[in-house]
Amino acid sequence: MRIEVAEEVAFCFGVQRALRMVRGALRRGRKALSLGPLIHNPQVVGELEELGLRVVNDLSEITSGAVVVRTHGALPEVLAEAERRGLEVIDATCPFVKRAQQAAAQMHQEGYTVIVLGERDHPETLAILACTDGEAAVVESVADGASALLTSGGRTGRRLGLVAQTTQPLERFAALVAALLPLCEELKAANTVCDATVGRQAAATRLAQEADVMIVVGGHESANTRRLAEICRRHAPRTYHIQTAAEIRAEWLRGAEYVGITGGASTPPEALQEARKCLEELAE
Ligand code: SF4
Repeated sequence: MRIEVAEEVAFCFGVQRALRMVRGALRRGRKALSLGPLIHNPQVVGELEELGLRVVNDLSEITSGAVVVRTHGALPEVLAEAERRGLEVIDATCPFVKRAQQAAAQMHQEGYTVIVLGERDHPETLAILACTDGEAAVVESVADGASALLTSGGRTGRRLGLVAQTTQPLERFAALVAALLPLCEELKAANTVCDATVGRQAAATRLAQEADVMIVVGGHESANTRRLAEICRRHAPRTYHIQTAAEIRAEWLRGAEYVGITGGASTPPEALQEARKCLEELAE
């Protein structure tokens, strides 16, 4: 059985940056509290907790120490409240996420009816939405886009602004642009899908097109890993999303000659190595 790891699987730029910022602060002896898990990977979060990071769900739980804003960003009112209370902020919001927030805010200020392509309840989407004073319509699919337009009322007729959650598939964003164009007079589309996502999804697609089985490693709560699994499944129906190698089942590999492995932006290299090792052992 041939086993191959996709070309782009390591921690993305934003996750590396966030880990560097937080580990650095903890090693300097700073007390740091993260608003929600820093990234959607329990192993990495566990390692940071051992270094001293505490995960809290709400700013009200923090009375002292530095507030860590995770890669997905935070709602503007949360940042304002931290500032009002004089709390130090370690802002690990990925610059690509910031770019999406800024694009949405600018379109909103310019009077566009803003549409955000993203997972409705994902923290990143909620933070982008907040940058439009909550007025943007969030759509999860191309079909949703047209109906959102019809129900939004449009603040200034049919001037539409479009941004995407950074981990959306680029083809979905492009398809939404094509679907919305005939429905409006003006469409301002900011491609806010991040480069790391595009490269990772393309590499996973190439592998999934050839492989009999795809193993996608990453946190079950990780949006970009779930999306990766969704993309792989289109080409390789025998795609399995696992968080750790312990979840791999021998029966998944029955009759398989070529197995591909890929991982999300927040998947540690060790988790990929363990998955590979487990597959190699099962193949023997
Ligand atoms: S996936 Fe992209 S947007 Fe998200 S943290 Fe990584 S680099 Fe930033």
